Parts: sequence; C-alpha cells; structure tokens
Amino acid sequence: MAKKYVYFFGGGKADGNESMKNLLGGKGANLAEMAGHPALRLPVPPGFTVTTEVCTYYYDHKRTYPKELAGQVKTALAQIEKLMGKKFGDPKNPLLVSVRSGARRSMPGMMETVLNVGLNETTIKGLIQQTGGNERFAYDAYRRLIMMYSDVVMEKAAGIEPKGKGIRKLMDEYLEGVKKAKGVESDTDLDADDLKKIVVEYKKMVKATLGKAFPEDPMEQLWGGVGAVFASWNGKRAIEYRRIEKIPHEWGTAVNVQTMVFGNMGDDSATGVAFSRNPGNGENRFYGEYLVNAQGEDVVAGTRTPAPINEWSKNDHSRKLKTLEEWHPELYRQLDGYRTRLEKHYKDMQDIEFTIEKGKLFMLQCRVGKRNGAAAVAMATDMLREKLIDAPTALMRVAPNQLFELLLPMIDPKAELATSPIAKGLPAGPGGARGRAVFTSADAVKWAEKGEKVILVREETSPEDVDGMHKSQAILTSKGGMTSHAALVARGWGKCCIVGCSDIEIADDHKSFKTKKGNVVKEGEWITLNGTKGLVYEGSLTLKDVDLEHNKPFQELMKLADKFRKLNIRTNADTPKDTAIAIKFGAEGIGLFRTEHMFYGEGSDKPLFLLRKMIMSKSVEERRKALDELFPFVKKDMKATMEVMAGRPVTIRLLDPPLHEFVPHSEDKLKELAVSLKVDMAELAKRADSLRENNPMLGHRGVRLGVTYPEITEMQIRAILEAAAELVKAGKKANPEIMIPVTCAVTELDDQKAIYDTVMKEVCAKCGLRKLPCLYGTMIEIPRAALMAASMAGTAEFFSFGTNDLTQMGFGFSRDDIGSFLPDYLEKKILVDDPFQTIDQDGIGELIRFGIDRGRAARKGLKVGICGEHGGDPESVVFCHKVGMNYVSCSPFRVPIARLAAAQAGVADLLAAKTAKKKPAAKKAAAKKPAKKK
Ligand code: ADP
Ligand code: MG
Ligand code: MG
Repeated sequence: MAKKYVYFFGGGKADGNESMKNLLGGKGANLAEMAGHPALRLPVPPGFTVTTEVCTYYYDHKRTYPKELAGQVKTALAQIEKLMGKKFGDPKNPLLVSVRSGARRSMPGMMETVLNVGLNETTIKGLIQQTGGNERFAYDAYRRLIMMYSDVVMEKAAGIEPKGKGIRKLMDEYLEGVKKAKGVESDTDLDADDLKKIVVEYKKMVKATLGKAFPEDPMEQLWGGVGAVFASWNGKRAIEYRRIEKIPHEWGTAVNVQTMVFGNMGDDSATGVAFSRNPGNGENRFYGEYLVNAQGEDVVAGTRTPAPINEWSKNDHSRKLKTLEEWHPELYRQLDGYRTRLEKHYKDMQDIEFTIEKGKLFMLQCRVGKRNGAAAVAMATDMLREKLIDAPTALMRVAPNQLFELLLPMIDPKAELATSPIAKGLPAGPGGARGRAVFTSADAVKWAEKGEKVILVREETSPEDVDGMHKSQAILTSKGGMTSHAALVARGWGKCCIVGCSDIEIADDHKSFKTKKGNVVKEGEWITLNGTKGLVYEGSLTLKDVDLEHNKPFQELMKLADKFRKLNIRTNADTPKDTAIAIKFGAEGIGLFRTEHMFYGEGSDKPLFLLRKMIMSKSVEERRKALDELFPFVKKDMKATMEVMAGRPVTIRLLDPPLHEFVPHSEDKLKELAVSLKVDMAELAKRADSLRENNPMLGHRGVRLGVTYPEITEMQIRAILEAAAELVKAGKKANPEIMIPVTCAVTELDDQKAIYDTVMKEVCAKCGLRKLPCLYGTMIEIPRAALMAASMAGTAEFFSFGTNDLTQMGFGFSRDDIGSFLPDYLEKKILVDDPFQTIDQDGIGELIRFGIDRGRAARKGLKVGICGEHGGDPESVVFCHKVGMNYVSCSPFRVPIARLAAAQAGVADLLAAKTAKKKPAAKKAAAKKPAKKK
C-alpha cells in the first residue's frame, strides 16, 4: 500500500488522533482528536493534515514532494467537498480553505498561516452569492488573502529580502491611508467599495513590488500555501527559536488544510481565543477574548480591542465592552461546555481558538496552554484536588525553573490586569521591575548614583554597557534575541530583562522611544517591565514582593515534592540570615559554609584585620598570636550558624582562597598592619609580594595552606568543635561536618586528619565530653581526587563534589574567562550547554560516577553530595539523583527548585519501574503471536 501522507478529519471522524503529534504536528493531532474522538466530536471544520514526513521528504529531495502526495490531497479535498457541499475553485459554490502550519511543539508566531485560499475574481462572485450578496464580507476576505499570500508565500517563502519595507508593511500603510482619508478608525468601518478598491490596489502592489501577479488559480494558491509552510520551517526566526527551545531541526512541520469558517461575516459572527483556566494566576475560571465581525488574526494583531468572554476576563480597556456571555448566552454556554469536556479529556488546561459564523460555533484549535509559574503551581495542585490528575502528574506539571518566578518580585497582578502593555518583546529575564527610562549606559550610572531607579533602554547592549546595566533595575532592548548580550548578562544576574522588543523604536537622539501603538516614552519617564512575559507598561506599576509562606499552592506542591524525592536538599549559606531564608524554603542542612565569608561584608573589619595580620606574619609565633586573636570571631560565627541549623548537618569548608586575595591595597590599611606587626612598610611590602602567585587558582590555597600552616587548620577545627561542644553542653544540637578543600591525595587528608584527631581529643577533654558528633571529609574538585576516590574514602567520611572547580579543571576552562569563547562553542554546537550551568554528564559526570563508585566500594555508606552551582540546576539535580548522591546543596533561593527537581527525578524512577513491570508481559504477548500463526 502506498504510504499515507494525508490524514483527514471532519464530520465526526478522523484518520489521526492526539497521540500522533510527531506525524501530524501538535495542531493537526489535536484537530483530529477534537473532530474524531467519541468523547469530543466537537464542531471542527473539516480538513486534512499533510504529515511532517512530507516536510522531511521536501528538504531531502530538493524541495519536491513524494509522488503520491498530489493524489492523496485530491482525495482528501474531495472528502471535504462532499461534507461541505461546496467545491474548491467552483465559480458558483466555492469552498475556501486555510493553510496552517503545525509543528510537533508549538512555535508561537514563528510559522505561517494563509486564510481564505481559493478566492479569485471568479470564485468571489460565488462567495457573494453564497452569503446572500454580502459583498463587503467577500472583499474583506479577498484583501486578507492577497495580503497574507503575498507576504507569506510570494515574499517570505520565496526568500525575498525586501529592499526597504516588506509587502505586508506597504499594504498595512496603504490600508491605514484609506482609513485616514475616510476619517474612520476601524477596519470594520470600511465598506464594500473601499475594499474593492483596496483589492485592486493590492494586486498592483504585488506586481510592482514582487514582480509577479497574484495567482488566480486556486490550486496554485493551495500548493503555494503548502510550500510556504514547509519553507517557513527554515525561516530565520524559526531556526533561532528552535535553537533556544532546543527543538531538533529534523522534526519538520505538518501542514493543515481546513475549511474556512468566517468570523467576519457580519455582526452575528465573531472569533476568539480562550483558556480553560486563567493562565496568569491559575484560577479555575474560563478566561478569554473575542471580537465580533473579525477573522482569526485580528484578535492578536491588536488593531481592535477584543472584548472579554465573561465577567472575570475583563480588564480596564475592555471593562465596558459586551461579554460573549451577554452577547450570545447560548453560544457562551456551548463554548463553556466544550471547555469542560476538553479539560476532562486532556486533563490539563487548554488554550483554544474558536470562530462563530452566523451564530454557529466552530472549534479551530486546542492545545495545552502555556502558563506562568504561579499559575502552573496553582493548576497542578487544584487539578490534583479535583482528582483530574494524580500526585506524580501534578509534580511533573511544573517546570522547576518556573518556581524561580515565584521567588522574584512581580508586578502586582491586579495592577497588571488593569492596564495594557504598550509593547511586547522576548522574556529574557523574569520578574518585574520599574524605573525611569534612560538610553545610555553612562546615564544609567549617573542617574543611579543620584539614587534614581532606572531602566536602561537600548537597541542592543555590548560589554561597554555592563556597568549601566548593572546599576539599572532592568534592561529593555529593541533588537537581539534570547541569546543576545543583554539576555545573557541579565540572566546571569537574575535581572529582569526584555530583549528583541521590535515594538519600540528608539529615537536617533537617544532621548525617547516610540511604540508601534504610538506611545512615546521620554527620558526620565517611568516604565514597568514584566520580564516573565516580555511586556512593557507605561508608568510605575506596583510591584509585589513574594510571600511564599502564605502561598498555599506553593506549600502544597513542596509538601508533595518531599514525599517523592530521595535526595536531601541543603543550601550553600554563609550567614545566619541566608541560612534562615534557606530553612524557610525547606533546606535540610548546609552543604557549603565558607569560612572565609566572615572576612567580607558587614562587620568584617576586625576579623579581616586579624586575618591579614596572620597572613603577613612571618614566624609561627607571630602567626599563632594572630590566630589566637582571630579564634573567638571564628568560633562565634560557627556557633551562630550551627545554632540556627538546630542539629541539621552543617558542612564547614576550611579556608579556601589563596592568601594573597586578602592583602590590602590601600596605604592606610597597610600602615595599620605594619604598626600592629611592628615592622616597617618596606618589610610589609616584601611579605605581601612574596605571597603573589602567577596562577593563584592553582596555587597556594585550600588544603595546601593547611599543610604549610598547620596552625591555621588547627585554629579553625578548634573553633568549630568548641562551638559544637558548647551547644551540646547547653542541651542544643550541633552536627558539623569538616570539609577539606582542594585535595588530590589521601595523604593530604591524613596530614590534616592528625590535627583533627588531636584537637578533637583536646576539646572533648576540655569540655568533659566523651565524644562530639562530627564528620571529617573532603571536597572532590580536582579530577585526580575523583580518580583517587578509593583511597580518599579511606580517610574521608564524606565527599562533596565541588563541581565548579571540577568542571574548570576537568575541561581546562577558566570559569572567569569563559565568556570570550563559550558563545561560539554554543553557536557552533561544539558544546550543547554551558558546563558551568548544567553538569556535563558525559565527561565531568563520569568523574563523579567513578568517584562515587570507588568511594563507596572503599567505605560503605559514604555520604556524597554536591555543592557547586549545579546543585540548583534542575537537569543537574536529576543527574545527582541518578548517580545516587545523598544530597544536593544550592543557594537559598534555589532550594525550592532543587526540591521539585529531586521529586521529579523520583517520579521518573517510579514511572520507569512501572513500564519495566509492564514490559515483560508485553514481550510475552509478542512472543505468543508468531506461535499462533503456526
Ligand atoms: P498559529 O499557529 O500562529 O496560531 P493558526 O493556524 O492557528 O496559526 O491560524 C491563525 C489564525 O487564523 C487563528 O486565529 C485561527 O483561528 C485562524 N484560522 C485558521 N484556520 C482557519 C479556518 N479554517 N477558519 C477560520 N479561521 C481560521
Ligand atoms: Mg493558532
Ligand atoms: Mg573550589
């Protein structure tokens, strides 16, 4: 049998179904499901889907089609004609169709659609007759076809780079001109004669601009449309989008050809889009917009203000407009019924497109709706409560990184609903921000230093702008994509950012910008950005800080996550304040407490001075004296943190950075040190100089300091153990884990362990305790340490993978200098991800697997965790789960993300176990079959 390339749907039947997304694309599969599934059978205009395999064939065979295709299309077309009682290209009773793209995964706005295909000078007469002489409607449909067709098929798909303005823009401007001349604002105010003239003019424009006439032959239009959809798969925007979203280029797109239904047939017709629940906050209420007497694209185009479908879909602009419920209660109820059926069937929030033609409702699309983080959490927990989904499904419904949105300040949803954005761009950095618009980096710095909140607005940013970007509340660029400089930098900082906002045009004098809608924002005027959605607002909207403690859905989801995860979640925190935040977010311990933190920031003057004194000491006696003075500070610090943690494990890393980092630069500070050490400045300079290293990252740091200066190790361990002992004696709990950094040999560990053992004995004796709970372990951050794991585990009671350094040393990439070449590596696909953000599972991951296996073989029950940045990256968390770590540790704000990611890893295991159970049975059944044949 010939291969099936065309799948029909309509009249209560469909060749395909929802599970065939790979073949039919998302849109096609769902159209088939809506049309044909017995539980649905919704009124879907009949049509057919040309499969993604044809797209693949098309690109593999110099843009030609398989030979069976034409015949199969003809058959499907005849099927539609029979159902509709109309004929494609018929002068008396013409069938019109739309040609719609549809990839496996939706690529919003990336690909093309052509409506009203089949209209020409002859068929339009039939259309007028069909509609009882509605000339206005027919010519409205015709001018739309000419515009879409010339833009999508004749210009874009043909690869014509317009010199100056593109054909669509020219036509838009012409249309605006006609409206202006006539003194009207809306398209609907144009009459049949106006539209007729526009059609004539459009055709002239096509010929003059594109050098070819608009094709009159309906079949040529149809195939032109099909080809254009395939060609749009390899359009620049689509390729860029796939790269960011990691959608494989090989997938290809399907094409849907579907009977046209008309929302623009008059005041009893309409078109709209709706969500089965509110995608902005998750509320279980039907939410959507519609436009009377309009065709699909008008709702999104923003030329007319759409009306709300019901009371709670209203915003400030649409408050006075008639809702669909008021306009046509019966149709509204019907649509609301479909909404319920669709949700029940798909068990998820649906995003739907509908059209009303002369009082009759049609469904044109449904798909799982996109939602923001808060809505995702609310919907998952609501649907679980409604028993629409089970707990594992609820957990899988929220992308861990979406939780980040819940942790950032956001625009108050009420304020946002009450207004409309003036422009839309790409959401490069989530959260909300408001500030005064400034247009140069220098101004941003100047204004910010005066205490002003600013938002930097640029066409693009470059490394010279970084200072201004940093001092701004947010960044808005008119050009550039999700991987532009602005986007990368903002994401790195967690700053609110919108890029590629082509809706705005910055004035040449860099003092204002103008939006497509006509708003002008001058320097110093307030704007507010929603970086999660890419929306720009005029004025200063209220921002809301997060209150996760009272966020019930969030708390519910986290509780659920804790039931399914195996990994423990700890935090990297250095201060009692950070620690308290992390505990609130659910941290079960500290995975990395950096001793050196106490020498930075608030209240660090005195300890820093003492540390410097210690560093600049020459003799052991001098150093010991300085260390003795430092001791109470360190002890107090450790005690405070362990106390807050109340018995949860606290991994304390001994002094890690190269000492030279702490040598002061200012003359005053140097003098003060010289006086305190009783040496002259020349001597001090000499000592400082001797600490300088060529390659400090690989120099005298970490355990190496402890080897050269055992007294430094001794002081720190004593401080930790005495702090713990005092807590224990006071009836409190302490659970320290002492971690030796930058090790590569067990002999280093043994050398330091001797100090640990001695101090432990002394502290126990001093405090009258038989023993103290404490673990002695190491960070695995040098590749050799991973390779030597078997021997390292002989002494170490735990491993904590320091994956920042392990990645740096494993790749030989300086993590501070990666910016100069990583973008090229990603662009050329030499690397798929930034290995500092997501663990390189193949290489660095192999070191980790090896280290864990060898370590655990040598010491049963070896505790293993991770404390690099990766501990908060969802993909990496899943990896940590798979390799059997005990915990991941991440920054406080990433704790909820890690909790959810760990739960999803647990759920994935459960699901895999389930399918594994099923499989043997399936195999048996398969084995039986041939036996029967005998
Ligand atoms: P996208 O994937 O960009 O949403 P669509 O294929 O859904 O593109 O089409 C764009 C618009 O055209 C939608 O609003 C849709 O409702 C409308 N449309 C598409 N096909 C038809 C049709 N057969 N009849 C009426 N409107 C249609
Ligand atoms: Mg659509
Ligand atoms: Mg390190």
